[in-house]
Amino acid sequence: MSISHVLLFLTYRCNLRCSFCLSFNNYWKPEPILNLPGAKVENEMTTSDIVERVIPQCVENNVEVIALSGGEILIRPDINIIFRELGKAKIHWCFDSNLMFCTKSIAQEAINASCDAVFVSIDGTREIHNKLRGNKNAFDKCIEGLNYLTQAKSESITSNTSIIINCVIQPGNEQVPPDIIKLANEYKVKEVSFQLLSEQNYSHEFLSEKAFLAIREAKQLASVYEINVSVYPLSNPTIDNLSDWFSQTKLNKFFKGCDYINNNLRIDPQGNVIPCVEYSMGNILENSLSDILHGRNYNKFRNYIQDINPLDACLRCCNMKTNNL
Ligand code: SF4
Ligand code: SF4
Repeated sequence: MSISHVLLFLTYRCNLRCSFCLSFNNYWKPEPILNLPGAKVENEMTTSDIVERVIPQCVENNVEVIALSGGEILIRPDINIIFRELGKAKIHWCFDSNLMFCTKSIAQEAINASCDAVFVSIDGTREIHNKLRGNKNAFDKCIEGLNYLTQAKSESITSNTSIIINCVIQPGNEQVPPDIIKLANEYKVKEVSFQLLSEQNYSHEFLSEKAFLAIREAKQLASVYEINVSVYPLSNPTIDNLSDWFSQTKLNKFFKGCDYINNNLRIDPQGNVIPCVEYSMGNILENSLSDILHGRNYNKFRNYIQDINPLDACLRCCNMKTNNL
């Protein structure tokens, strides 16, 4: 089995507490049905754990992309060192961030270390973004960081870094897709993705028709501005599909299996290797990635999902296979 994409969670710490956060809401909690060990995070990996163990293990196992995530990764004081080591390792790498800690120097380090993509979380106009993110400075700080990134990119002759705005569509921002496209155009961002929120229990009403019309308008606007736009995991959601996705009843209408776990895995801040849903298959600081990947538990997990047995988290997961609804 080979893994092409490693989602490396550098930390679970974050300066924000967004109400919809997957990490803080325990979205991926282990379910007893599989009787596999859960991951438990007590300590974060050190700089040397990451640069001397995790990155080399990924390179050795022919991983194509390391995607840094969290938590908010820019909270780590060693982030520039990690960026530089990824650049030296000649592996593709990217990160997602709320950008509130993105200084000019961090932006330059990321661009100079050949970062392939930065996924910037923006969920609406200033007022809506700040409300959803629970911080009155979230929008302005994010835009400041975005400016540092675009500036660093424009100053580099060799940079191929893509800057992508990722907007999580959820109750409270149904109308924002066209605003996000206008914002992308203003800041010269050429890619926007709209992600339908993953939530175990939706407790707020979602305005499906409003969201449907807004997504349609956003796609039209994006084609005028020549911006690539995607909606996932439902690429062309109808009003009914949006209503069902955001309904309280856990319908198994969308899950058509999962290819994601065949070539993706997560490594948590303590080094646990997780195929999905916080089941730990071993720790990369103690065992080789190759041994973990070929372990019995890993196969048990993969086989269970591949037999189209969705776990609760699969029913609203942004990585599921959906028959392209
Ligand atoms: S910024 Fe991201 S990691 Fe932090 S609380 Fe919000 S969604 Fe979670
Ligand atoms: S669909 Fe796949 S990636 Fe999503 S929760 Fe299920 S196993 Fe995990």
